[in-house]
Amino acid sequence: MPNADPEISPYLRDLNPGQLEAVEALDGPVLVLAGAGTGKTRTLTARIAHILCTGRAWPSQILAVTFTNKAAAEMRERVERTVPMQIGSFPWLGTFHAISARILREHSERAGRKPNFTILDSDDQTRLLKQVITASGIDEKKWPARQLSATIDRWKNQCWLPSDVPASQRRSFEGRVVDLYQEYQQRLEILNSVDFGDLILLVVELLRQDEELLAGYQRRFKYILVDEYQDINTAQYAWLRLFAQGRSNICCVGDEDQSIYGWRGADVGNILAFDRHFDGVTVVRLEQNYRSTRHILAVAGAVIGNNRNRLGKELWTDLPGGEKVQLIGHWDGKAEASWIGSEIEALVSAVGSRRRYKFSDMAVLVRASFLMREIEDRFLALGLPYVVIGGARFYERKEIRDALAYFRLVVSSADDLAFERIVNTPRRAVGEKAQLTIRNLARQEGVSLLAAAGRLLADGAFTGRTAIGLNGFIGDIECWSELLRRGEMGHLDLAEQIIDGSGLPQMWLRMKTPEGDGRVENLKELVRSLREFDSIQGFLEHVSLVFDNLQEAEGDRVSIMTLHAAKGLEYPVIFLPAWEEGIFPSARTLEQEGPAGLEEERRLAYVGITRAREICTISCAGNRNQYGSWNAQLHSRFIDELPREELEMLAPPGIMASPFGNGAKSAGKPGSRFDGSASKPAGGYGAPGFRRLVSRAAERSAGAARREVEPAKAAAHVEYASGVRVFHQKFGYGQVRSQEGDKLVVEFECSGTKHIIASYVSLADGSEG
Ligand code: ATP
Ligand code: MG
Repeated sequence: MPNADPEISPYLRDLNPGQLEAVEALDGPVLVLAGAGTGKTRTLTARIAHILCTGRAWPSQILAVTFTNKAAAEMRERVERTVPMQIGSFPWLGTFHAISARILREHSERAGRKPNFTILDSDDQTRLLKQVITASGIDEKKWPARQLSATIDRWKNQCWLPSDVPASQRRSFEGRVVDLYQEYQQRLEILNSVDFGDLILLVVELLRQDEELLAGYQRRFKYILVDEYQDINTAQYAWLRLFAQGRSNICCVGDEDQSIYGWRGADVGNILAFDRHFDGVTVVRLEQNYRSTRHILAVAGAVIGNNRNRLGKELWTDLPGGEKVQLIGHWDGKAEASWIGSEIEALVSAVGSRRRYKFSDMAVLVRASFLMREIEDRFLALGLPYVVIGGARFYERKEIRDALAYFRLVVSSADDLAFERIVNTPRRAVGEKAQLTIRNLARQEGVSLLAAAGRLLADGAFTGRTAIGLNGFIGDIECWSELLRRGEMGHLDLAEQIIDGSGLPQMWLRMKTPEGDGRVENLKELVRSLREFDSIQGFLEHVSLVFDNLQEAEGDRVSIMTLHAAKGLEYPVIFLPAWEEGIFPSARTLEQEGPAGLEEERRLAYVGITRAREICTISCAGNRNQYGSWNAQLHSRFIDELPREELEMLAPPGIMASPFGNGAKSAGKPGSRFDGSASKPAGGYGAPGFRRLVSRAAERSAGAARREVEPAKAAAHVEYASGVRVFHQKFGYGQVRSQEGDKLVVEFECSGTKHIIASYVSLADGSEG
């Protein structure tokens, strides 16, 4: 019940008793532990307003930590709207990283830096680590820099300086991993730089070593507030604890059911142990959800109810039931994207009984960023304005732009911008100096950079690793251009060969992190997207139009983001595509983390559903192109956990029966527009994808997680005569030199001599067996 007392300040009036208690308990530690949409963030904001209005502190005396810059901006804005007076700025309202950077700049000398220190991004970090590894004489191929970077990040999240690393973790990099860490820290200091992990770590170190400084901050920060406390890691906890030891006026809000950053070192134990970490804690629990309709809440509650490792809490709402959560299975990812596009069009034109929505009322939340490409392409085709939150749009991503540059240079050897972008990506020892030499000659002679590089190489202007690197690069580009010109090889095979030969996937794979894997998936997705075009040139033309479109989309836009980036946000309409085994829950998480990983994935599902206020749509596809091949997908086990009575099961347009059983309505509701491409009627209910969806339980018990749709290549033994021309998916055309059993030695036109398995090549067209 909101408080009706007219005397009470407006910012308190709308709060329920629990929220009010958390706002008014200004002295001592407070923990608000409550489910999604119960008003935790709103309580924090009201608390800041209350602190200011009661004259307890100035904005500059409030330390308020949020998880993203977007959340910080929203909080600042909300307080400014609530508080009746001019309050000035909040210098200490921001993310852990932003606040730490500010503190470090104030005391940079004590952390061995100048005030204008730079913050390295992960690319710079890896480059520096590579130098450190090479200088130490360790083989960087065996012990890649990206692995070291992941290790050091992990240690920094743990708040470990080199001396803190336990003996059991010191073995990698020939037993010298800690020396490398130490050396890296020294280089950072010489370069007047820090990395992201350092921002937290160095502040902790600084404050631990300087009692006076710490006491100064403890005096300054009269009130500390932290949102999304369930996701803080050990270093962030140490950081907070230092500040909070002063007055202990710390208020943290969070939801253990929404802890989704375990893979980045977040420790949900921090929120569960809050009352042991601080003395005299007031714990407030909130149970009323103000965000979502009853059906949405019931579905979210049922899913998270399957997690064992939780405190368990029931949420309720007095909002109306609203629409049931929609569940729909599609033929493939393309049909799914097409359906989402059509739904959005219908929602903005207010067809049927629904109210009119704006584009900005809607969000599509995906488990992995590679899933965005198909949706983005559909939106572009329909002209739907959209924005990708918390990341670059598909074609703007670094790995994609690098790959596009390879295609461009193959298509046009005069594309100097493309040349500059990739001549040393991945690194091939063509540094700044060599590039300058190339640029100078190109300018003098009026030729392309590629031509200039070729001439310089022929004249012996480069030696050693630079010469080898450049020679390989030019050779590859010329070979691919030649293949393109001849037009014998399909454009998909050629694209795959280019991506593979570019070394880009290998570069990202070496990272051995989810981010690196994600980038490789994006590259595969890029190759896949070429299927929709007749040629690489046609594809590049499409992409340049995409870039044109991207620039103008401002204002009212649909949001696309990962589930991780959606934390704390809410939208009237939410689309949750690709609920398929292997994707969601992610196979990688299950492999690496086991049952705990499954629970984290389920929390992610809970976060996704609870972002929706009015309409929530969950979907999956029976076929999806992933890792470069078509897979028959099994629908996510989370779909089985959705309570049927809260669902409206839709059959995909053009398919009469539901993949999930009986009783599905056709998705072609009156007024919604489905174009023919949304379905492949030939598939229908009996098509392999859907049959699999239905017989999923049986499949799972047989231990099959995912099946290839394409039958495996018959491994019949074929004899190849010497000199016969063959074709290999990856290496292109070549001549057989010899054969021993099922092993062939083939001299490929572009890739040199290789030993390969006979069943992987086919006779080139026109060759005689
Ligand atoms: P999450 O766990 O997703 O971060 P939260 O607990 O932080 O959610 P809020 O975002 O603060 O929840 O609130 C959810 C919605 O409910 C917001 O639209 C907010 O304005 C509204 N709300 C919160 N408390 C109340 C209240 N007492 N009366 C009316 N609306 C409220
Ligand atoms: Mg919140």
